[in-house]
Amino acid sequence: MNIAIDGPAGAGKSSIAKLVAKEMSFVYVDTGAMFRAMAYYCMTEGIDVSDERAVSDNCDNIDIRIEYQNGEQHIFMNGRDVSTEIRQEEVGKHASIMASYGAVRTKLLELQRKMAAETDVIMDGRDIGTVVLPEAEVKIFLTASSRVRAERRYKELQEKGVECSLDKIEEDIVARDKQDMTREIAPLKQAEDAVLVDTSYMSIEEVTKTIREIAERVQEEK
Ligand code: C5P
Repeated sequence: MNIAIDGPAGAGKSSIAKLVAKEMSFVYVDTGAMFRAMAYYCMTEGIDVSDERAVSDNCDNIDIRIEYQNGEQHIFMNGRDVSTEIRQEEVGKHASIMASYGAVRTKLLELQRKMAAETDVIMDGRDIGTVVLPEAEVKIFLTASSRVRAERRYKELQEKGVECSLDKIEEDIVARDKQDMTREIAPLKQAEDAVLVDTSYMSIEEVTKTIREIAERVQEEK
């Protein structure tokens, strides 16, 4: 059984998916990390991410591998664990640009489908319910207002001691959503059969419980 979770940046997809995966013994697959690792490669190799031709020509040089250590997903780019480096804000921005390229999506689609075929996964991203796993038994579209998502990110950065502006974070979030929703290939959108969960005024525990109940109902019916 597979669970697909899609939604815009900062809706809480990865935190929620991790918890549900742990409670239901599913493997959590963070597909955003794969796009980020591809972007990180380009950034470290000096490849201009806005140059589709250059990025596409380099796709075969990038080996993306996922490993699990103590239940945590680690992502390897050409043998190097880049799980921490890819979390930078800049990498997310670059990933969103590259995610509109057909060659990048084709490469990662294969890896994503292979992982879902091997085991029960809870996979999060932008196109999981619509393109990657259209047959997923459970589909959730997780969202929250851009202000709430910016406030969550702002709090996270403040806790890390990073100086930032709430308005600028919201601006970046809105720009990334627009880029993800308007691209031609596999844009961010709610699958017709996905359940919409607006997390703006919900706690992590409430969202986790909601999704678990939906998934358990489907599991019982199987
Ligand atoms: O979710 P995260 O912020 O890590 O994703 C980074 C970027 O990767 C997104 O903004 C999006 O453009 C891209 N992405 C995608 N399809 C996915 C997952 C991520 O296009 N399934």
